[in-house]
Amino acid sequence: MAMTNMPARGAEGTASVLQPGKRWRNWARVESASPTYIARPTTIDEVVAVVHRAREINLPVKAVGAGHSFTAIAAAPGIQLDLAGIDGLLHVDAELRQVTLGAGTNLFQIPTLLAPHGLAMENLGDIDRQTIAGATSTGTHGTGNAFTGIAAQLVAATLVTADGSILRVNASENAELLPAVKLGLGALGILVDVTVQCVPSFVLHALERPERFDAVLDDYEARVNSSDHFEFYWFPHTDTVLTKTNTRLPADAAFSPLSATKRWFDDTFMSNGVFALTCATGRGIPAAVPGINRLASKLTGDREFTDLSTSVFTTKRTVRFREMEYAIPREAIPDAVRAVRKLIETRGWHISFPMEVRSAARDDLWLSTAQGRETGYIAVHRYWRENHLEYFHAVEDIMRGFGGRPHWGKIHFQNAETLAASYPHFGDFLAVRERLDPDRLFANPYLDRVLGT
Ligand SMILES: Cc1cc2nc3c(=O)[nH]c(=O)nc-3n(C[C@H](O)[C@H](O)[C@H](O)COP(=O)(O)OP(=O)(O)OC[C@H]3O[C@@H](n4cnc5c(N)ncnc54)[C@H](O)[C@@H]3O)c2cc1C
Repeated sequence: MAMTNMPARGAEGTASVLQPGKRWRNWARVESASPTYIARPTTIDEVVAVVHRAREINLPVKAVGAGHSFTAIAAAPGIQLDLAGIDGLLHVDAELRQVTLGAGTNLFQIPTLLAPHGLAMENLGDIDRQTIAGATSTGTHGTGNAFTGIAAQLVAATLVTADGSILRVNASENAELLPAVKLGLGALGILVDVTVQCVPSFVLHALERPERFDAVLDDYEARVNSSDHFEFYWFPHTDTVLTKTNTRLPADAAFSPLSATKRWFDDTFMSNGVFALTCATGRGIPAAVPGINRLASKLTGDREFTDLSTSVFTTKRTVRFREMEYAIPREAIPDAVRAVRKLIETRGWHISFPMEVRSAARDDLWLSTAQGRETGYIAVHRYWRENHLEYFHAVEDIMRGFGGRPHWGKIHFQNAETLAASYPHFGDFLAVRERLDPDRLFANPYLDRVLGT
């Protein structure tokens, strides 16, 4: 393993890097932590110094991204490392279309950084608030039969490991670590930069339609296979799904973006403002939820436009919620969706938040939810002020029956023992962790649960 030992600062220099910690909460307000210290390094040297200091004072270190994981994966009980100061575009290889980004770069910064180079990220999830390191570390994904999640779009990474060494992982250096490091749950080291395989910038034609629940499920495989990016939302208590079919077009295709007013009305007023009100109403008067959902499924999701890829892939989410998402073999999606519908009907629950159904191509990352199989994703949500536990436990039981793997950044109740059975390379990942972080400097209670101590 090729490692470079960087000069570490002495204890005095490092002391100025550590500031007293402040209480931290994740976006969904379901997890919190009270770190002893917080460090905001702006150079790799400073990251190395924090790692050395952490060892000296015997405190664990955890990098935090944008705090958008629903699980406690980013909770830092010891030293919280905020890499917002290590961001931006560090290198562009125009020929290979590969770009190296600081680990703390937020996804929303990337389109502007890539635009002058005529590049874009190949696929994205629903929002762009996350950091690139946080998104890849948990296996964040979007939708699309032929497209992988973000971690599989990485070709290289640099991390600071537990002994303060700098480890470069790419096709010619430590390549055997790539399937672990690209999606490492923050357990292998502190990522300081990542290199992303980009594509020429492109435009998406978006078609959003309300359709019949059974018609879409009966035809699911064909719909996924005939589209670049297909997904749907089902509002519980209705027979309607809102489908989204996005088609990739060259960068010079004619644009017909949503007007600013239409975008504000759909995405800010309806999807966030009115939706917040209906969720609050549904919480106070659960019996009103089916009616509200029927109305919501009629008022939203009927539009067509063409815009830059990032403007189509991502939207704003201001209504807080809690989420569980399971990856299952794609062919099981119709049965699994129907099983969740039956569950809701049988239990008589009133669920205001829609279920989201997406897909991804198989990849070869050891802890990827899409490892080794064509994948379908089912995400269930609850308004953040409602209790999600009973619903999520019951959905998890269904998903495990379909060979489900939980999203690492979304709520689930599994542990290392149950997860090991779902991932053929779980043991390989643990061996890399043992090699890079034998003393568990980067552990926290969530990682203890899902990977073991
Ligand atoms: C509103 C909303 C919408 C979402 N939409 C989607 C979606 O469409 N698709 C999807 O798959 N997920 C989605 N998610 C989940 C989200 O993408 C992931 O949880 C993602 O990890 C969050 O990124 P973050 O920057 O907030 O990371 P955090 O949650 O802060 O951290 C996640 C992990 O990354 C690690 N990490 C962060 N930085 C580093 C670093 N420099 N080095 C090493 N480890 C690091 C942390 O230690 C932790 O283990 C959504 C979440 C929310 C709240």
